[in-house]
Amino acid sequence: MDLLDDGIVPEHARDVKAEAREFADEYIAPNAAAYYESGEYPWEVLEAGMDAGLVAQDIGEEYGGRGFDLAQVLAIAEEFYRADAGIALTLQLASFGAEMVEQYGTDEQKEEYLRPVAENDQISGLAVSEPETGSDLAGMTTEAEKVEGGYELTGEKYWVGNAVEADWLTVYAKTGESDDSYSNYTLFIVETDSDGYEAEHIPEKMGMRASKQGHIVFDDCFVPEENVVGSEGGGFYVLADFFNHGRVIVGGHGLGLAAAAIEEAEEFVHDREAFGRTVDEFQAVQHTLSDMRIGFESARALNWRACEKVADDEDAGYWAALTKTKSTEVAADCAEKGMKLHGGRSILTDRRIARVYRDVRIPVIYEGANDIQRNLIYRQSR
Ligand SMILES: Cc1cc2nc3c(=O)[nH]c(=O)nc-3n(C[C@H](O)[C@H](O)[C@H](O)COP(=O)(O)OP(=O)(O)OC[C@H]3O[C@@H](n4cnc5c(N)ncnc54)[C@H](O)[C@@H]3O)c2cc1C
Repeated sequence: MDLLDDGIVPEHARDVKAEAREFADEYIAPNAAAYYESGEYPWEVLEAGMDAGLVAQDIGEEYGGRGFDLAQVLAIAEEFYRADAGIALTLQLASFGAEMVEQYGTDEQKEEYLRPVAENDQISGLAVSEPETGSDLAGMTTEAEKVEGGYELTGEKYWVGNAVEADWLTVYAKTGESDDSYSNYTLFIVETDSDGYEAEHIPEKMGMRASKQGHIVFDDCFVPEENVVGSEGGGFYVLADFFNHGRVIVGGHGLGLAAAAIEEAEEFVHDREAFGRTVDEFQAVQHTLSDMRIGFESARALNWRACEKVADDEDAGYWAALTKTKSTEVAADCAEKGMKLHGGRSILTDRRIARVYRDVRIPVIYEGANDIQRNLIYRQSR
């Protein structure tokens, strides 16, 4: 049975899902172990993904992309993450943050920055989190001080995907001191070769090693006025809307990982023998596999429903938080159970189940830790 069958996927997203699966089978899955081992940035797979028309293609056709909508990006996410989460994150982050330029940017910004990303000549990233603050979007301290012709950025960002590799980033910085702390932030396009921009990779991670995050130091980094995205003081609200879409996709990260854990566990127990029979003949093992399926199918149904809700902007924050939490936690649970079913072999580092087990620790954190999602769910369900 195909866990990621396309029956639940809207018809218009099925072709791209099939393209993503073919690509993942040919380029992602066979390279997953090697990139985990080396911890290198998977440039070759990224370039192949670009050639296949599957990277940064949520950008509209008028700017050189394929104009994928939320359902299409979710369909790709499920397939890529099933094959390998580290490489998948790199492929999906190549246009991270650029979507906000498309929605709120000026025509000039779209030509200068968005088009090269859509045409795969450049890659972008999004810099929000800081060394001392991750969850509290109204507590970030990187400042953008108004100077003649623009702003000067001072402060630090941490965990930023592509901080070293990207051509430009969308950066979230403080521009005000008003009592309404949510109105104090602004988004800027910052070129990574600007004076006053320094970035280095953060220390090695235990999972998703084929994706790279960086630590940025801004030291009086000048950004011209015309690089403000949207309006001064509007950054928080733009970001909140962007994260609603992102959280549906991160749910897809969880679904792909959960599918990988289930596949791996089912295959193992059908081959492994104990007490004169294959392990899958024990009822306790069958129940564990059934529980994995129950969690997976519930999460997937919720995720595709949330996709529709968020795309239609119906209580988007609520549905996005629900599905991000459910799908990423089901992935963690499936990985835990998959490890148990593998017995001693679970801890061999080159096993796919061990890689999935390390990777599932990550989507429960990024795009807003799940405790924050629970705060949002409670607040928005009243
Ligand atoms: C692999 C990876 C890639 C990332 N990529 C990016 C990126 O490209 N750009 C970017 O800007 N950021 C990125 N991040 C950062 C990510 O968004 C943050 O790690 C996340 O928001 C959590 O922030 P934090 O790590 O500072 O945890 P903290 O905010 O310090 O929180 C620690 C823990 O405290 C608890 N907690 C905190 N506040 C509350 C609360 N109000 N209620 C209940 N519990 C709470 C939570 O359990 C949380 O897990 C990435 C992170 C990872 C791991």
